[in-house]
Amino acid sequence: MTGAEAAPDLKESLAAIVGPEHVDPGVERYLTDITENPPGKADWVVRPGSADEVAALVAMAHARGIPLTPVVAGYNVAGLAIPRQGGVVVDLTRMDRILELDRDAMYVLVEPGVTFGSSSPSSTPRPPSSSTRTRSPRPSPR
Ligand SMILES: Cc1cc2nc3c(=O)[nH]c(=O)nc-3n(C[C@H](O)[C@H](O)[C@H](O)COP(=O)(O)OP(=O)(O)OC[C@H]3O[C@@H](n4cnc5c(N)ncnc54)[C@H](O)[C@@H]3O)c2cc1C
Repeated sequence: MTGAEAAPDLKESLAAIVGPEHVDPGVERYLTDITENPPGKADWVVRPGSADEVAALVAMAHARGIPLTPVVAGYNVAGLAIPRQGGVVVDLTRMDRILELDRDAMYVLVEPGVTFGSSSPSSTPRPPSSSTRTRSPRPSPR
């Protein structure tokens, strides 16, 4: 029995956190990856838009004993993002904001969906003042 079978109202609980448009039954492409590991199983994919939503998902899943599997690109080479216990895949690719950038310290704080391409020097904005430190406003749910 998977998490969703054990909790028929799970879809509604997920939708209350991430919004119904970000709860998806289309799990197929998350059940395998680039490795030869056997397919996993899952009931729902959710695509949160903020750290607060991720925290709420984790709290809800923990309280109800529902497995969560986070995934971004799914490019690890050990099958680590394949869901093994059913439950919910948490696709973090919507969270793609650069939160803080300090060029002098060569430091950047990013959300998990940021790619090398989107965070490269040519694609990150230069700060407007003489300061090389940039801080984005706190992210809000999309
Ligand atoms: C051709 C190739 C070359 C590579 N070369 C290198 C290399 O030179 N050096 C190197 O270090 N790696 C290398 N890798 C490995 C690969 O790049 C990394 O493992 C990959 O980038 C991990 O990022 P991902 O977004 O794909 O993670 P995923 O595969 O999506 O996830 C990896 C694991 O982390 C978990 N996870 C994902 N996001 C989060 C999160 N936000 N919070 C908590 N857990 C999370 C997942 O559940 C999973 O267990 C290579 C891979 C390939 C295919």
